[in-house]
Amino acid sequence: MKHTSFSDILSKFDFDAYYQTLNDVSVHDIHTALNQKKFSLKNFIALISPGASKFLPLLLNESASVTRKRFGNVIQLFAPIYLSNECQNICTYCGFSFTNKIPRKTLTKAELAKEAEFLKKKGFEHVLLVTGEAQKSVGMEYFMNALDVFIPLFSSVAMEVQPLEETDYRLLHQRGVYSILVYQETYIRSTYAKVHPKGKKSNFEFRLECPERVCNAGMHHCGLGVLIGLDDWRLDSLLCAMHLDFLQKKYWQTRFSVSFPRIRPAEGVDIHPSVFSHKELAQLMAAYRICFPDLEITLSTRESPHIRDQILSYGVTHMSAESKTHPGGYTQGDALEQFHTDDHRTLEEIKESIRKKGLDPMMKNWFASEIY
Ligand code: SF4
Repeated sequence: MKHTSFSDILSKFDFDAYYQTLNDVSVHDIHTALNQKKFSLKNFIALISPGASKFLPLLLNESASVTRKRFGNVIQLFAPIYLSNECQNICTYCGFSFTNKIPRKTLTKAELAKEAEFLKKKGFEHVLLVTGEAQKSVGMEYFMNALDVFIPLFSSVAMEVQPLEETDYRLLHQRGVYSILVYQETYIRSTYAKVHPKGKKSNFEFRLECPERVCNAGMHHCGLGVLIGLDDWRLDSLLCAMHLDFLQKKYWQTRFSVSFPRIRPAEGVDIHPSVFSHKELAQLMAAYRICFPDLEITLSTRESPHIRDQILSYGVTHMSAESKTHPGGYTQGDALEQFHTDDHRTLEEIKESIRKKGLDPMMKNWFASEIY
């Protein structure tokens, strides 16, 4: 039977079989996954299994080799721009959560222009626009106005905002947005319900089906991920990898990326994430790379300079730099952050650390041609 939606696949997922496969992983399974370099449930589970951690150097070498063959020596840098911290959702892990008593701010067009010009002068060509979910003040009309500021200035503008309808994505695409990031946070329905008790985001299915709407609308790129720390990172990452596999097969024209955000401290947030070590982060990144050679992998400033420097040459293709996680963060700095970042180095310092690894930091690798 042909599946038409990932939701169908997820609802049939056999959790008991997953735990059994994880328990039964053998050294032979790990080597098979390393040799095959393609996604299957068994291969991905083998590579993220506790047993595979003993082979981490081997995994990382393989991951680095596949990355250099597919992506060369380039690491593309970008900066997020927070447009608003207004949000109608309660998400227990986020500083912008509706009940969190923080000053709320949505940037005006003039304030957006100041942020944009600041980053442009620094040399950024790729930016990611981020908002909370407040339909009335930060809906499609606001986005279209904001894009008047950003599209003429930057080579590419990606968006990480609330899940939208396919028709909205088509409008954004026509306006010059080619990349949408929409992280599921967790694929475990019970956990999802617990950490999203109120607001539109509590609709699990609408979010789960969002990447398909993004791809159907003709976007060139779609970013996936889970918020590490909400549930069992191995299980959530496997489900995310299955989602990716489904999307890659169905939407072969679209590029995909994955990121591994972990829960970070934030004002008003009292959540105790499950432990996820730096070695486990490296292992997870290698598992994705080995199973998905064409996948773009992003490493954000949620991670420390030490860990970013340690793993950047093993599979990463994109990194954020000098990130501020509140609206007006680059030029005003008066509203609270969504979360605290961990890498506070300057753009030049980050570029230098990339060069020290023998890689090339790149500020621009794409722009929309007028020909089309
Ligand atoms: S995670 Fe997003 S939707 Fe949830 S409270 Fe934060 S900004 Fe709002």
